[in-house]
Amino acid sequence: MSDRPLYRFAPSPTGYLHLGNARTLLLNALLARRRGGRLLLRLDDTDAARVKPEYVAAIREDLAWLGLAPDLEARQSERADSYGAAFERLKAAGRLYPAYETAEELDRARRLARASHLPPVYDRRALKLTAEQRAALEAEGRRPHWRFRLSGGRAAWEDGCRGRQEIDLDSLSDPVIARDDGGFLYVFTSVVDDAEFGVTEVVRGEDHVANTAVQLDLFAALGAEPPAFAHHNLLTTAEGAGLSKRAGSLSLRSFRAEGIEPLAVAAYAVLIGSAEAVRPVAGLDELAQLVDLAKLSRAPARVDFEELAALSAKTVHGLAFADVAPRLAALGVGGGAVFWETVRGNLRTLAEATDWWRIATGPLPESAERPRAEDSDLIAEAARRLPAEPWDDATWKAWTTDVGAATGRKGRALYAPMRLALTGWPHGPELARLLPFIGRERALERLSASS
Ligand code: GLU
Repeated sequence: MSDRPLYRFAPSPTGYLHLGNARTLLLNALLARRRGGRLLLRLDDTDAARVKPEYVAAIREDLAWLGLAPDLEARQSERADSYGAAFERLKAAGRLYPAYETAEELDRARRLARASHLPPVYDRRALKLTAEQRAALEAEGRRPHWRFRLSGGRAAWEDGCRGRQEIDLDSLSDPVIARDDGGFLYVFTSVVDDAEFGVTEVVRGEDHVANTAVQLDLFAALGAEPPAFAHHNLLTTAEGAGLSKRAGSLSLRSFRAEGIEPLAVAAYAVLIGSAEAVRPVAGLDELAQLVDLAKLSRAPARVDFEELAALSAKTVHGLAFADVAPRLAALGVGGGAVFWETVRGNLRTLAEATDWWRIATGPLPESAERPRAEDSDLIAEAARRLPAEPWDDATWKAWTTDVGAATGRKGRALYAPMRLALTGWPHGPELARLLPFIGRERALERLSASS
């Protein structure tokens, strides 16, 4: 086993990844990156009724979209032999017992306990069954599920986010680790996997804090070294509701469809609800430097889509041509680094570069705004004074100075109608830089159409 830290991201493929999943994923992936460690993608796909192959494909796609490539991959559905072997060891060690209650019976017992102000903890009724009672239940056609007998006492660990944690194991139910159909459950399979893969770090949502107490007891029972645990605060919708894969809320693919930048999603997922201000970053390495688990807030953080969209726009403004060249080419946007640098500050999404490329290389769409009738003399004068090519960044200044002197117009009264005539839009990238892309022939055509 190597001494490089091994982190893991363990989604169940039962829906599309959402921003909260991205938080867990990125905290693991970025810490692995910063520490020279590795990342395992583990698909927790034992729940055959809810798992769909399309979600497996979507998880891989979403990771790639975020710019992440796991070093290892595993699927729980392919590891039944390992779980079976660990199950037999626990059974031989006397830590497992069969139980026969139906889901309805368990539910009724929990409700009764609550009504009598008792904690809804399983009362270990099945542990007291005699061999004859078990045989009788099985004769009735009941098949057992299996519970792990917790050792009692306190589970304690130093949590990477929350500091020292202690949980009284007697306050928890003995977990069911195998269903009556022989299928194994997450709380157990996760421990077997973490132990066998040599996972050294588990960073996950704070909804798993109680599981950690149970899982530490399972690691001990299996004689395995537990990883270090850290439980981060959760994200909620703007209304304060928990994010759900099944409800499809705030999914990464919905962001992709809206043109939100993956780097902005990564920055938002990591920086929201932390001591760091939400801000654009130049890349995942820079973001990795900003992760500090101990400084995450303890309260849940609310996702504000508008804040994410604004962060995405700022991220676009800072994207280097080299990093976006293939995407621009795929969109049919030309003009190289100069065009990108001309328009990027005016974009909300990268795809909007296409709009400016069309405006530059025309024809202007029907919907383009035209200058007002009272500006037609100005536009006619501008057409007459249009300089000869070649054009560069200085052409606009020289030309407008000339047109200004000839018409007596200056400031907005001069520039606004000219911009409208040339681009069909009241605002946009600096014309000094855009004009050479429009070129003399198109400029003349547009000015003539407006004068
Ligand atoms: N499949 C579990 C989940 O998505 C994994 C939790 C863990 O990281 O152990 O909640």
